[in-house]
Amino acid sequence: MIFHTIYKNNRTFAPLLTRFNNKMEIFREIGQLTCYLKNKRLNGKKIGLVPTMGAFHEGHLTLVKRSVKENDITVCSIFVNPTQFNNPEDLEKYPRNVDKDIEMLKANCCDVVFCPEVSTMYRKERIVQIRLGYLEEIMEGKFRPGHFQGVGLIVTKLLNIVKPDRAYFGLKDLQQFVLVKKLVEELNIDVEICGVPTVRNEKGLALSSRNERLSEREKEQALIFNRSLRLAQEMLKNGGKIKEVRDVILKNFQKDNSVKLEYFEIVDSETLRNIDSLNDCDNASLCIAGYVGKVRLIDNISIN
Ligand code: AMP
Repeated sequence: MIFHTIYKNNRTFAPLLTRFNNKMEIFREIGQLTCYLKNKRLNGKKIGLVPTMGAFHEGHLTLVKRSVKENDITVCSIFVNPTQFNNPEDLEKYPRNVDKDIEMLKANCCDVVFCPEVSTMYRKERIVQIRLGYLEEIMEGKFRPGHFQGVGLIVTKLLNIVKPDRAYFGLKDLQQFVLVKKLVEELNIDVEICGVPTVRNEKGLALSSRNERLSEREKEQALIFNRSLRLAQEMLKNGGKIKEVRDVILKNFQKDNSVKLEYFEIVDSETLRNIDSLNDCDNASLCIAGYVGKVRLIDNISIN
């Protein structure tokens, strides 16, 4: 209650209140958000967090819908996190459309949006680093040095700010999901990490904010990623050997000049370590990444 008075009297916040609907709260400052959520927590409300970098598609909204269903309050953060971009051009070209995102969140019954400035999230001088051992050196980590240190840092900060009961991550970014689970386990952060299955378009292309940068032709060319995963899945289910499957997929990419494969890995879904046979683990995942034109795409599927 006290907070609401402060909040509504805050002049810097007033334009936001008139511009957006009163039901969904929009915060740019950490103190105001934590104060608001503390009040909700004291009233016994369960809080779900959906961390995002915006430029929403149905994949993001599926995470939001699930959080809305499972919690009393859903907080969605929109923050294009500079520390997880190893390529300055990728950061610069990353699609941003906060106003449209906010409308989509409203339409999906999100309760709170947190969209801070970079200077709000990061001090000029930073000394804390998060290292994630072998998990930051394989697959995505190998091709995007420093990426997961940035992810680890921003996720830890968001979890500490929001203190959610549950946090939602897409299984499309499987390595991120596995790494966040490890992070909260090892740092004893009291939150349930929930994985949400990948949402695809009708042709099988995994939805991604980066797809906005693909031409119609490139979108067709990008289907090779999902087709390769499904072909490999089929071959493995029919008793194909891992080496044979890898060779077939690599050759398919060599034949197609419009795409560039960075990696194709067959891994234990829990540890993401490479396996030699499906018998090595309870569940295996096939992970792939590469470029269509200048756009980098990733995808994965589980064998089961
Ligand atoms: P991003 O804004 O790309 O950082 O994504 C925010 C969250 O949405 C992450 O947890 C992603 O894994 C998830 N996500 C992105 N694309 C999809 C998708 N196609 N299906 C399900 N979740 C997704």
